[in-house]
Amino acid sequence: MGRSVLVTGGNRGIGLAIATAFKEAGDQVAVTYNSSPPPEGFLGVKCDITDQAQVDAAFETIQEQHGPVEVLVANAGITRDTLLLRMSDDDWDSVIDTNLTGSFRVARRAAKGMLRLRKGRIVFISSVVGLLGQAGQVNYAASKSGLVGMARSIARELGSRGITANVVAPGFVETDMTAVLPEDTVKQYLGQIPLGRFGRTEEIAHAVRWLASEEAGYITGAVIPVDGGIGMGN
Ligand code: NDP
Repeated sequence: MGRSVLVTGGNRGIGLAIATAFKEAGDQVAVTYNSSPPPEGFLGVKCDITDQAQVDAAFETIQEQHGPVEVLVANAGITRDTLLLRMSDDDWDSVIDTNLTGSFRVARRAAKGMLRLRKGRIVFISSVVGLLGQAGQVNYAASKSGLVGMARSIARELGSRGITANVVAPGFVETDMTAVLPEDTVKQYLGQIPLGRFGRTEEIAHAVRWLASEEAGYITGAVIPVDGGIGMGN
C-alpha cells in the first residue's frame, strides 16, 4: 500500500496535478477542497484551511482512511491583487490567512503524526513572485516568501526526526489563477520567461513528487524553482 499523501487544494489546478502524480505512483491520496470536490479516485475532504477545527477534522478523517499523513503538500492559495495604496486590510488578511497561516495550520497538524512515524515530507507551494516581488501583489508575495522562512525553520526543527521541509516555487502556470490575467500582462510575462511559455501543471507536480521521494531524502530547506527560468536562481 502506498503512503498517505495529503494535497491541500487538490481538487483543481496545480493541486490536482500534484494529487494525480502521487496517485499514479501508487500512493493513497487525500485532497482537501473548499468549494468543489475533486474528481473520482481521491479521498476528498471538505476543509477551509483558514479554520483550525476544520483542518483537525480533515486530518482525523484522513488518518482513519489512509493512516497518518506522511507526505503533506501545502498547495491551497488565493490572490487578491491590487496596488499597495488601494490594498485593504481585508485583501491583506485574507491572503495571509489562507496562503501563509493556512499552510502553517496544516504543517503543524501534519508534523504531529510525522513525529510519531519518525519520517515525513512537507512541500510548500510558494511562487516566483515570493522571491522576485510583483507590482500589485504585495500581500501575495509576502505570503509566499513567508513560506520559505517557515519551511527552513521546520527543516531545522524536525530534520533529526527524518522529516524534510522544502519549497517549490512555480513561475507562471496555466490554471484558473492565471486565466484571469489581462492579455497584455500575459504578453509582458512571456517576454521575461527564457523558455518562452507558461508552465504546465504536470511540470510542477513532477518536481513535488520527486521532492517527496526516497531519492530526494537528503534535500531539506531547499527552494526549487520550476519557472521556465524567470527567477534565475532567486
Ligand atoms: P487555483 O486558483 O486553480 O486553485 C486554488 C486552490 O486553492 C483550489 O483548490 C482552492 O479550493 C484552494 N483554496 C483556496 N482557498 C482555500 C481555503 N481557504 N481553504 C482550502 N482550500 C482553499 O490555483 P492554482 O492551481 O493556480 O495554484 C495552486 C497554488 O500554486 C497556489 O498556492 C498558488 O499561489 C500557487 N502558484 C500558482 C501559480 C500559477 O501561475 N497558477 C504560480 C505560482 C504559484 P476550491 O477550489 O475548493 O476553492
